[in-house]
Amino acid sequence: MAFRANYLKKGLALALTLATALPLLGGCASQNKKMETSIFAMDTVMNLTFYGVDPEAALKGVQEELVAEIYSLEDKLSATEEGSELYALNEQGQASLSPETAELLTQALELCELTHGALDITAYPAVLAWGFTTGDYRVPDQAELEQLAAGIDYTQLDVDPERCTARIPQGMAVDLGAVTKGYAGDRLARQLEQANITSALLDLGQSTIRVVGSKPDGSPWRIAVQDPAGEGYLGVVELTDLAVGTSGGYQRFFEQDGETYWHILDPDTAAPARSGLTSVTVVGPSGLVCDGLSTALFVMGLEEGTRFWRSHPELEVELLFVTEDGTLYVTPGMDEMFSLAQGYEDREVQVLQ
Ligand code: AMP
Ligand code: MG
Repeated sequence: MAFRANYLKKGLALALTLATALPLLGGCASQNKKMETSIFAMDTVMNLTFYGVDPEAALKGVQEELVAEIYSLEDKLSATEEGSELYALNEQGQASLSPETAELLTQALELCELTHGALDITAYPAVLAWGFTTGDYRVPDQAELEQLAAGIDYTQLDVDPERCTARIPQGMAVDLGAVTKGYAGDRLARQLEQANITSALLDLGQSTIRVVGSKPDGSPWRIAVQDPAGEGYLGVVELTDLAVGTSGGYQRFFEQDGETYWHILDPDTAAPARSGLTSVTVVGPSGLVCDGLSTALFVMGLEEGTRFWRSHPELEVELLFVTEDGTLYVTPGMDEMFSLAQGYEDREVQVLQ
């Protein structure tokens, strides 16, 4: 499979890079200095870790640039912060955009189209109506839901990436919550590569992760996948130079009258997506695609999601679905990267073809 071959090639290239780089370091791998920082941004805790060679001042500079980039993206892309470009677009129906916002909106719209609207970044009025942005949760009645669903339509959002402008009809609004953290991971990975950092683990929060290269010892990064039905970890994905996105109803939800309502909405109904899945994990070269697709595939469910995966090999993604009965379904490339955690060895894992 193309993705697998790519993955192996990258791993080999990295192993070779390390093999040739070590003598230049005088065999002193301990010069690999660990830089670590945690920040609260985009409504979540982010942990950024990377390894580099002294001088420390230079590494601190790189770290500051990463943090500055996250805050700068948040300032532009937040739907809730007055003063952001997205806020202006939603309030005024049109806005001038920075190149980053124009790029993200354009790429997010492409994903909306590719997923036939399972991802729809104009679901924001429905997200607001359910109270997911404020925590003032409520269950809209059927008439309200129908009205909200009728107003979700990404084709009404017009983005001009050349002029860096966007327009949206009155009453509609955009929310990039499903893709921003993945996009941020891509941008941070590029910054690190430009700074010649070849080993990093960027945890952008809520199971959105981007790794650069491998661990300093050359082994792959190990990323835990949360059990959507419990506190523990179902298993571990081992990867090099890739992104991971997981979406699940367990990440943000409320309960009312014995019913659980979560933050991933089906654009057709404006209500929480009930597709029989409890989580979807997507691994691939683009953080934006992994983040957006994990949301979209959660809406699609196992069957439609598998068909989507088969018909889009160009995305080079590998998937892990967890269904309500606790069964895991993995694509063959994911099967190679994934192993069950202790205590979960008996869990059924089906390999999709
Ligand atoms: P994620 O955690 O990446 O799956 O993204 C979920 C967030 O995206 C939610 O908190 C909403 O803000 C927004 N959202 C919910 N449902 C959708 C959808 N079907 N398409 C696009 N964005 C959505
Ligand atoms: Mg997402």
